[in-house]
Amino acid sequence: MTSTSLEDHAGGPGPARFVVEVSPPKDGSTRARAGRLQLTHGVVDTPQFMPVGTNAAVKALDPDDLRAAGASIILSNTYHLYLRPGHERIERLGGLHRFMAWDRPILTDSGGFQVVSLGDLRVIDEDGATFRSHLDGSVHRFTPELAIQVQMALGSDVALAFDQPVMPTSPAAVVADATRRTHRWAERCVAAHDRSDQALFGIVQGGLDTALRTESTEFIRNLPFDGICIGGLAGDETAAQREATLDVVVRLLADDPRPRYLMGLGSPADLLEAVHRGVDLFDSVLPARVARNGQVWVPGGKLNLRNRQFLDDGTPIQEGCPCAACRTFSRAYLAHLFRAKELLAYRLATCHNLTFTLDFMGRIRTAIRSGDFPRALPGLRLHAGRNGLGEVAGKSA
Ligand SMILES: [Zn+2]
Repeated sequence: MTSTSLEDHAGGPGPARFVVEVSPPKDGSTRARAGRLQLTHGVVDTPQFMPVGTNAAVKALDPDDLRAAGASIILSNTYHLYLRPGHERIERLGGLHRFMAWDRPILTDSGGFQVVSLGDLRVIDEDGATFRSHLDGSVHRFTPELAIQVQMALGSDVALAFDQPVMPTSPAAVVADATRRTHRWAERCVAAHDRSDQALFGIVQGGLDTALRTESTEFIRNLPFDGICIGGLAGDETAAQREATLDVVVRLLADDPRPRYLMGLGSPADLLEAVHRGVDLFDSVLPARVARNGQVWVPGGKLNLRNRQFLDDGTPIQEGCPCAACRTFSRAYLAHLFRAKELLAYRLATCHNLTFTLDFMGRIRTAIRSGDFPRALPGLRLHAGRNGLGEVAGKSA
């Protein structure tokens, strides 16, 4: 792999043109930056959050709901779509965008995480991973080449290399083995990828070990990927461990022209701290998953709509929020819907949490573009809910 090919990814033609429009200040007070990522189906302003549509749908929402929430790009899962309804069927039906009627960018993951976390009886060898479907127990085998082939058939804007993730706190030998296999698989993914309207991102692993993270970052950045994913975090590590690891990776990528994507991080407070340390892209099921349990996010914390106190609360979830729930309905109505298990509850609460999350990313971008992100940090931390989104009082926030 030649280093000259890296230049192609900064502003030139290609499936992912990324321009850093506001660079971090020279004084080192933050590594937060603002950029624009041009993909085949549209532009993504960064830092940005990607809602997750596991089965080619963000649970309970349709594309109009997603656009209203402010989503400019979503993530969909290769593993799930391969198993059901099958990538070849989606390709015959015109590709993933047409299949799910979403005309903005889509990023597909590679299936590596699901193979390891969902597939039973998985066996990893040098060539690939064999696993049993979590749906029907049938046996399947993913190789780097197949993971790329599936994503090319789906036609996402961004495909990811097939990796072998491990929990951050796994034994050192396990992390080292998986990381070096991920490197060999990354080279095979680059060789297998052949779709000019689709970007390909590589994944850095390396656990929490500084030397191994350094080795992995240097290996992946020397391949001609269009973007760099930071994998193996958002697991069982502490916030301090995550931040230390980000410091290792982002320092090495300081002058790299490509976007950085931290996989699997979702709470507003965590997103903010990762942006502060130089991350551009995120995805997580968290805002939608907690919404379906009745937990909605508001400035300063969260409300649990299953609590009895909201049954008589005629105010919206969040005053001034433009989402489908807050524009029209009261907390009392939502609290009733959750108790009655009405399907509308899941849609409205999800609309709110995604609107809140995407609005928060917009606030972060505005602060970076103002040129004084460090001074805006305390206010943003307050908005995110400082103590990991502790519950706030029932009054309108
Ligand atoms: Zn709302």
